[in-house]
Amino acid sequence: MPSIADRMRSHIADLEPYTPIVPLDVLAERLDLPIERLVKLDANENPYGPSPRALAALAREPYYAIYPDPDHTRLRAALSAYIGQPAARIICGSGADEIIDLLLRLFVEPNDVVIDCPPTFGMYAFDTSVCAGQALAVPRRADFTLDIDGIERAAMESQAKAIFLASPNNPTGNPAPPAEIEQLLNLRVGPQALPVLIVVDEAYIEFTADNSADRQQSPGVSYWVGAYDNLVVLRTFSKWAGLAGLRVGYGLMPEAIAVQLWKIKQPYNVNLAAQVAAIASLEDLDYLRGNVARIVAERERLLVALQELPFLLPYPSATNFILCRVTQGDALTVKQQLEQQGILVRYYRTPLLRDYIRISVGAPEHNDRLLTALQAVAEGAPVKGQ
Ligand SMILES: *Cc1c(COP(=O)(O)O)cnc(C)c1O
Repeated sequence: MPSIADRMRSHIADLEPYTPIVPLDVLAERLDLPIERLVKLDANENPYGPSPRALAALAREPYYAIYPDPDHTRLRAALSAYIGQPAARIICGSGADEIIDLLLRLFVEPNDVVIDCPPTFGMYAFDTSVCAGQALAVPRRADFTLDIDGIERAAMESQAKAIFLASPNNPTGNPAPPAEIEQLLNLRVGPQALPVLIVVDEAYIEFTADNSADRQQSPGVSYWVGAYDNLVVLRTFSKWAGLAGLRVGYGLMPEAIAVQLWKIKQPYNVNLAAQVAAIASLEDLDYLRGNVARIVAERERLLVALQELPFLLPYPSATNFILCRVTQGDALTVKQQLEQQGILVRYYRTPLLRDYIRISVGAPEHNDRLLTALQAVAEGAPVKGQ
């Protein structure tokens, strides 16, 4: 008998259900630990939270009963000054995630190919599938660098519409060399020599290079936007500015792409609280950069300490997290042993990452608790092959 399911778009009905993260209070109850005892190092959140100026601006804002500015005028002006790109090239979203979705909705027709380079951020392939596109994976090399020749070949064979590169990459922590990005920007596919949309996701760029106030140029490739008609750069307030829960990110793109996204975005996509907090964050850069510097210093301390553990191989990182290969024993078991002690790290149930855990850099006391717990795992853990 036909059912209502037969009227649904089949590519969506056939999608795997999304595995949501477990909220902290539910997890605390499950582990029978008070919520303050949990050390959350599983989602690359900022342990220092939002800037006090952002919190004060949120408390002061008088107009929560009024719809927010659909053009994000003040936020885009502040971002323009922060990034050094005209406001006409900036589109804000409810997180960078929304910009990924909008871009794919603009570019992808059914069965169009979108390339990503796993292990990488899952939203590129996820949103491609939702748009009825085909996600084509060109895996990274063993050292997690990009297989540029492989990407070019795959893009030409499939006449790919878009290539997504996270730089620095999540979860591997390494940046993409600008020369390789440039090579892909110049790639042309098919008999008509068509350009490919290149999306460089710089969610973690504030944790790379130095962030000192006197630097002339923002790190990454944002200053190339506009010079190429096919380059989009994504940024977010979720990680460096501690606003993950408010959902605010943005894309930098040529005007010709921006005008189309303006047509399809929901008018009130970025809520008022998010806009207020993001603007105030950009007025408190010294404070936020201080926290970024603390996280970067902790990252380097953590890297050295993790290297000393016999069962972990940590990878250097330009972000606020460290990917570790579990070289003895089982990565999922390590994750679960840490969880029993109230420490949450990220484990991926995927073939490429089954031997890895990803640890977000916390405040010093969090990282100390992590290291103590890992020491205990080292002393008690069953070792593979013995
Ligand atoms: C966290 C993350 C994002 C998501 O940013 P939001 O602004 O919170 O949506 C985008 N890209 C990468 C690579 C990330 O790790």
